[in-house]
Amino acid sequence: MTKQFSQENLEIIAGPCAVESKEQILKTAEFLQKAGLKIMRGSIHKPRTTADSFQGVGNEGLSWIKEAKEKHDLKWLTEITDSSQIRDMEAVVDFWQVGARNMQNYELLKALAQQDKPVFLKRGLAADLKDWLGAASYLKVDKNPEVVLVERGIRTFSDSSRFTLDLAAVNKIRRETDYTVFVDPSHAAGEVPLVEPLALAGVVAGASGLVVEIHPQADKALCDGQQMLDFTEMEKLIEKVQAVSKLA
Ligand code: PEP
Ligand code: MN
Repeated sequence: MTKQFSQENLEIIAGPCAVESKEQILKTAEFLQKAGLKIMRGSIHKPRTTADSFQGVGNEGLSWIKEAKEKHDLKWLTEITDSSQIRDMEAVVDFWQVGARNMQNYELLKALAQQDKPVFLKRGLAADLKDWLGAASYLKVDKNPEVVLVERGIRTFSDSSRFTLDLAAVNKIRRETDYTVFVDPSHAAGEVPLVEPLALAGVVAGASGLVVEIHPQADKALCDGQQMLDFTEMEKLIEKVQAVSKLA
C-alpha cells in the first residue's frame, strides 16, 4: 500500500490534548480548516500519570468529532488505550495513536495491526531506538497501510524541557528505515516558548510531519495547558515551518 505522508509534503496535525467539549472541538476544527490543515488531533481516552486527573470524556465526544469532521472536512487522529475501544471508535477515527505509555502494550499493537488505518506510535518515555522499532514491528503487517513513528521526547537528566527531543533518532529513522517519522514538539517542550523552535528543528532533522497541541483557551485546558499554543501562535508556527520545510 502506498504511504500517505512524505517529507516533500509536510503534514501538520494540530488540536487539543483532550477532547473536552463540543464548543472546543468546533472552534478548533474551524481554525484548522481556515489554516489549511487537514487532520485534527484530540483524545477522548487519556492515560494520565495520576488517577485523579481528567481521564477523558470517552464516547460522549464521538458525536462532537463527527460533526466537526463533516463541517470542516477534516480527519481525526486520536489515542486508543485498549483494544476494547476499537468497536465504538472505528467509524469516526482516521488514524490511531498509541501513546508513549502504551508503546510496549503488545496486545494493543497486535489488535491495531489488524485494522486498515495508519497507526501513530509514540516513543516510550524510556525506550531506546531498538525498543521502539521492535514495537513498530508488531504493526508492520500487510493489513496496516502505514506506521508513523512519533518522536515526542524521552527522559534524560536534562531539565531544560519536559522531555528531551531526540532529533538524531528522527534523522536515523528517516535515513535507515522504511517507517514514516513525525515529531511532537509539544510534549517534549512542556512550555509554549519551546514548541516552535523544537518543531522547526524536527522538520530540519527529517520529519515528514508534526503533531502540535493547540487550544482555543489554553488557560482553561483540562490537560497539558502549559504547552498548548493559541491560534495566533499556531498560525506563526505554520508559516515558519512551511518556510523551513523548503530547506529540509
Ligand atoms: C498526547 O498526545 O496527548 C499524549 C499523551 O502523548 P504521549 O503519549 O506522547 O505522552
Ligand atoms: Mn497531551
